Amino acid sequence: MGNKKRATLIDRLERLPRVRLGQLPTPLERLDRLSNETGGAEIWVKRDDCTGLAFGGNKVRQLEYYLGQARKAEADSVLITGAVQSNFVRSCAAAAAKMGLECHIQLEERVPRDDEFYRQSGNVLLDRLLGAQIYSYANGEDEAGADRRLGEIASDLRAAGKRPYIVPLSPGHPPFGALGYVAAAAELAAQLADQGLAPQEIIVASGSGATHAGLLFGIRALDLDIVVTGICVRRDATAQRQRIESRCQEIADLLQMDNPVRNHDLLLDDSYLAPGYGKLNAASKAALLATARSEGLLLDPVYTAKPMAACLDRAAAAQAGCKIIFIHTGGTPALFGYHADLQTLF
Ligand SMILES: *Cc1c(COP(=O)(O)O)cnc(C)c1O
Repeated sequence: MGNKKRATLIDRLERLPRVRLGQLPTPLERLDRLSNETGGAEIWVKRDDCTGLAFGGNKVRQLEYYLGQARKAEADSVLITGAVQSNFVRSCAAAAAKMGLECHIQLEERVPRDDEFYRQSGNVLLDRLLGAQIYSYANGEDEAGADRRLGEIASDLRAAGKRPYIVPLSPGHPPFGALGYVAAAAELAAQLADQGLAPQEIIVASGSGATHAGLLFGIRALDLDIVVTGICVRRDATAQRQRIESRCQEIADLLQMDNPVRNHDLLLDDSYLAPGYGKLNAASKAALLATARSEGLLLDPVYTAKPMAACLDRAAAAQAGCKIIFIHTGGTPALFGYHADLQTLF
């Protein structure tokens, strides 16, 4: 890795407002038993489930940059929208509490289900515990509508003399959160250099795409020769590819640097997605169980079990001596929200 490239990237990142929320760097660990059982490549895990704030996860890194914007705007309240069992929303509620801001959250009906655990436990329980005010939005596939409704709540707050900041997640807004994963790429690169590791591939969940795009951008900006593969957890590879492509250009614009990501870098695999967002399948169930029982490492049913299933398949097919890095993006509180599904595993 060129030190000059690294210095430039860090310098560009430091020009943007950031608040420190996470316990960083997160560990990079080899999964010994899982690797032995799988055969083929060694599996390593970047423990972003351990970012520290209120059960951790990838949204802590993303919120460092969003709430940097909120602080710059001198906001006294933050608003965010997400799925009922959203980790982003829960992490935002925790960050707001830590910063002394009011938090207003809108929960969208993205996964059609009405069991008690899903509606009340897991992240929803934590949102309440963290003191967020909860609103609900009946349609889960209407990003524009959900944003509009959130804007109305912000207007009401403004009318009441508040200074709200909306965490803008839909396309068409600058992806400040992705900067957290550009920074994470620099953190990972330093760990790889320290430990003398040269992995072939990084596997990461691709949801909104902020994590995937940020990591990919950072890895390419640092000139590292590692394939970054996004495992689709929300939409198919064609739709997701376009998102990642635009996100990377938007990151370049935010950092005022050239976009180092080429078309052939945009790698997406949607073969683990069925039957859809927030729904387990045979491969993701098996990966969730194997990781728990071989490593004592907990994955989540919505985001990390599918990429781990992909990681196990790739590892098994790879040559001995290859190394794959799995980005554990967190989400473990959702285990309790998905109690009804997980119960069927035993
Ligand atoms: C949100 C989330 C993801 C997906 O990250 P994006 O940046 O939205 O693509 C992955 N894992 C977990 C646990 C998440 O909460």
